[in-house]
This record gives sequence, structure tokens and C-alpha cells, in this order.
Amino acid sequence: MTSLSPFIRALSESDDITFVLGADRRIVQFNEAWSRFALANGGGAGLQRWEGGGAPIDEAIPEVLRAFYVDAFARSLASGERWEHEYECSSAETYRRYRMVTYPVDGRFLVVVHSLVAELPHERAECAPTGAYAADGIIVLCSHCRRVRNPAGLRRWDWVPAYVRSPPENVSHGLCEPCYEFYWGTLPEDDDG
Ligand SMILES: [Zn+2]
Repeated sequence: MTSLSPFIRALSESDDITFVLGADRRIVQFNEAWSRFALANGGGAGLQRWEGGGAPIDEAIPEVLRAFYVDAFARSLASGERWEHEYECSSAETYRRYRMVTYPVDGRFLVVVHSLVAELPHERAECAPTGAYAADGIIVLCSHCRRVRNPAGLRRWDWVPAYVRSPPENVSHGLCEPCYEFYWGTLPEDDDG
């Protein structure tokens, strides 16, 4: 891992959330900022497994976004070119946007750095949690912007900070239409609202 050495000290002291993936996407190194981020976002159990032996990063990516990131990581590693992507990771109280940059090293490692680029109060209308959100007993949360699907309206997703603060048990993760388009460049073909 000698070609990685120059990175290790820098990443360990950085406030940027950083991890290093092997070619098989297992986490071979991560910094303190990543530990704090993962714990604050409910990733405590997963983090212990990564410390133990390096689980693939795939498991930390919401399923509906996994192919997007896995493909981008693979392209960056194979081409030797860095890849940049901005994404939202808001809390109930604060809108936050991060920039992710991947740095391929020798076709063997990918250093993935996440920097905070915006942290603002939400401007969204806040909705209260009600039983109306649980169509068929399931509450659908957007994996990216964390809005909640409103079964009453076609393509309507509401901002319900209470569900972000404390996710309900009966939650399933999807993608709202604007986030789908953001990731895939097109709207979902079949939308049952
Ligand atoms: Zn969304």
C-alpha cells in the first residue's frame, strides 16, 4: 500500500469525510470524519463491520442509488480520472450538500473525499407526521432528499422532518421524481404515483 502512504496522514487529519476503497470496493481505510458522519447518520452497526474486515461500500449506499455509484467508482478506477458528484445529505434541521470527489491511485485504490459545500436552514414547507403517509402500512422515504411520498397526490413528496429525525419502523426507501431525474437524467418510465 506504499502508493497510498502520502494520503494517509492527510486524510486522517482532514475534516473532509474520506475513505479509501480497494478495487473490490471494500473500505481499506477511513478517517475520523467518516466515523463521525456514519455514526451521526445511523451507520454505527455498519461501521463496526467495516472496522472488522472491510465490508464493501455497496452496503452503505441506498439500494436505489447503488448502481449509479458502483458504476461511477468503477469508471473512475479504470480510467484513472477523478470523478465529481454533488449530493444532498440533509438532517431534519439543516439542508446540507456535499461534493464527492474520487481520486484513483494506480488502478488499485480509490480515495473518496466528501466536502461540505452548503449548509443552510431548510426552505421547505414542513409537514407533520400523520397516518396518511403510510399507504399499505409503509412509509416511502426518498433516499436522496429524504422527502416522504404522499399517497394522496400523484408524484407528491412532502418534507416531514419528524420522520428524518426519527425514521419510522415501517419505512421503505425510494427516489422521488426530481431525485430520480438528478441521478439518471430521465424520469421514471412507469410511475404509479
Ligand atoms: Zn428526493
